[in-house]
Amino acid sequence: MALKDIVEVKRNDAGISTAVGILKQAFGEAFQTGEALRAQHAHTTTYIPAQLPDGVLFAKSSDDVQKAVEICAEHKVPIIPFGTGTSLEGGVNAPAGGISIDVSQMNKIISVNESDLDCVIEPGVTREDLNTYLRASGLFFPIDPGANASLGGMTATRASGTNAVRYGTMKDNVLALEVVLPNGRKITTAQRARKSSAGYDLTRLMVGSEGTLGIITQITLKLQGIPQAITGGVCPFPTLDAAVEAVIYTIQMGLPVARIELVNALQMQAMIDYSKLDFEPTPCLFLEFHGSETGVAEQAEIFNEIAADLGGGPFKWSAVQEERTKLWKARHDAYWAALGLRPGAKAISTDVCVPISRLADCIRDTEADIEELGLIAPIVGHAGDGNFHVLLLIDEENPEEIAMAESFVERLNGRALAMGGTCTGEHGIGQGKMKFLEVELGGAVDVMRGIKRSIDPDNIMNPGKIFTL
Ligand SMILES: Cc1cc2nc3c(=O)[nH]c(=O)nc-3n(C[C@H](O)[C@H](O)[C@H](O)COP(=O)(O)OP(=O)(O)OC[C@H]3O[C@@H](n4cnc5c(N)ncnc54)[C@H](O)[C@@H]3O)c2cc1C
Repeated sequence: MALKDIVEVKRNDAGISTAVGILKQAFGEAFQTGEALRAQHAHTTTYIPAQLPDGVLFAKSSDDVQKAVEICAEHKVPIIPFGTGTSLEGGVNAPAGGISIDVSQMNKIISVNESDLDCVIEPGVTREDLNTYLRASGLFFPIDPGANASLGGMTATRASGTNAVRYGTMKDNVLALEVVLPNGRKITTAQRARKSSAGYDLTRLMVGSEGTLGIITQITLKLQGIPQAITGGVCPFPTLDAAVEAVIYTIQMGLPVARIELVNALQMQAMIDYSKLDFEPTPCLFLEFHGSETGVAEQAEIFNEIAADLGGGPFKWSAVQEERTKLWKARHDAYWAALGLRPGAKAISTDVCVPISRLADCIRDTEADIEELGLIAPIVGHAGDGNFHVLLLIDEENPEEIAMAESFVERLNGRALAMGGTCTGEHGIGQGKMKFLEVELGGAVDVMRGIKRSIDPDNIMNPGKIFTL
């Protein structure tokens, strides 16, 4: 499959036109068919071309979702769940048309159980809104993808972010889900208990299912206490290799970093320009430590020694919240900063993840490949997890460049898989990575197909994503 090719799914024109009529009647203003709105719901941010749904329903409750799914199921019409539309692999595209069910207005925080450190929310709540709401309680939710995504979308893509090295990914932080299945039936996958051996783990089946098995209408999340003390800062290194070695030593010696993010020199330059940072454009690590006041100071000093042994430093760290907030805002804006390196270019965001012991080899070979091809492709990553992004900035109109980028992505994914890694640490498969999933998991993808067929026999739930049927 060429990068711009996407799997064709047969369109059911008659069913779609009937369902659109019924949905208009049933939902009135909440159901819209204007082209601009439909285009917005197929926006992919990346090189993947948009494929518009035929209508958009703004659901306000799980009952709305259930009713719409029943209508679509009866007429065998595709349903594309939509959170905030920030996914990077064409997840919200509608290759066979159908109805985008936008859950952004389902944004209630239903309960916060402070003594149990959990909360129950609707799927349209965004990660930033949840943390703003929680602030007074002394609790926070740690998963932080670069975008202010919805927690439904984050659950559906098994997202993670800069804090994953300490707090895990969505798979570690979702306790239970309410899901509307493709036949309209509503199920709850678990209770609020911290652990359970009760049957198949349907919660984890739904986490990462990318809207292909049902629409998540309620989420029970684990929360964390805001640490007593937080320190953070940036440490420069003479080479990317030295920065990566510092990450590996830090993780292998068990230093409890909360965040350890790698930024190469080109990406650093982009962030300096975009976020007005006062640093030199050399390879850097962005770090944060959580714990007691003496603990975090001690950890920062131990890291300083690791960095110095590798020719890096000085590690300038601070406990002042405003300074840390500025740094992490810049880190979260890394994608937009990188786009500034080549105005008008389209981005291909790779996100391989390898076992930590292979990280240096993988990044070294990848950097050499970028240099040889002369691509504009900054590197940034959640290096503590072995996960890094190469953001290829390409001219869509230049076939030679596209071919070069394609072969680069093939080699990068092949390299990561040969090292025991994965083609996607956090963005998911969507449309963009389908062929790499087959290479990575082989026969296991057939088991996924079997599960999909048993839950969604008419293939109406986000068809044309993850794998072909
Ligand atoms: C600048 C930028 C930085 C990013 N950084 C990161 C990062 O650090 N880590 C990371 O993991 N990702 C990152 N991403 C990708 C993206 O933010 C995540 O994939 C996020 O989880 C998508 O959430 P969303 O609400 O935008 O979902 P959408 O894009 O709306 O949907 C994503 C997928 O989930 C499905 N879906 C959405 N809501 C539901 C629901 N309620 N029920 C069932 N299925 C649903 C959709 O059908 C689609 O397949 C980044 C994206 C951008 C643009």
